[in-house]
Amino acid sequence: MVEDTAVLAFGSIVLGAIFGSFINALVYRFNTGRGMGGRSHCIHCGHALSAVDLVPVLSFLFLRGRCRYCGARFSLQYPVVEVTAALLSLAVYLAHPAPLEYALWLGVVVTLLFIVVYDIRHGIIPWSASGLLATLALLHLFFFTEPTLWSFVAGPLLALPLFLFSLVSRGTWMGWGDSALELSLGWLLGLSVGATALVLAFWSGAAVGIVLLVLSKRYTMKSELPFAPFLVLGALAAHFFHVDFFATLPYLFAI
Ligand SMILES: [Zn+2]
Repeated sequence: MVEDTAVLAFGSIVLGAIFGSFINALVYRFNTGRGMGGRSHCIHCGHALSAVDLVPVLSFLFLRGRCRYCGARFSLQYPVVEVTAALLSLAVYLAHPAPLEYALWLGVVVTLLFIVVYDIRHGIIPWSASGLLATLALLHLFFFTEPTLWSFVAGPLLALPLFLFSLVSRGTWMGWGDSALELSLGWLLGLSVGATALVLAFWSGAAVGIVLLVLSKRYTMKSELPFAPFLVLGALAAHFFHVDFFATLPYLFAI
């Protein structure tokens, strides 16, 4: 049994790394006019990359992060996303080992990681990614939980403050994609853990914003910091580390 678990855990790491590689390709190609088909090329010299150049993480380490044809450096984004996806897949396996639940949560974390990297690279969240995430969140709600009225309300209620931020600022303080993302996170996490995740997102966003203001000359009060990475960070931290600031609230109100 222990060996089985170890094999499956290792398999989840490999599968996650492969999905990470897929995320990198998708972020580079999706809605950028580069086309979704065809082989991968070095973006510097245009040489077609072969299978041995494209093994997640290992190729980057083996080639020391350089193109074997022209020697140009590849972005650190590639191995960082691949390692992150591998670790997230392992975390999903450890938290949800049942095959169907693992598959669903793997879909969730892969979509979330795509949203984060795409938002950082392009400053926008594709609606198709938000739609896929919402579908997965509702599937999770129906098939893996016992849904109550509150679990449905959690999505819109947690998205509402972000939506109002966007409305008041006409999308300049907060992108519309952020409230669409939060809708799904609320459905996935429920009201209590979802609210905790939102608090963590604002704290980490504020902390990083202040550090950037102090350290970076390019960054000013008017700079836009993508918020999706913090929403996702808060959600993953609250879910996988079982953080819930509001778990005791129902008991307080019941007194
Ligand atoms: Zn090259």
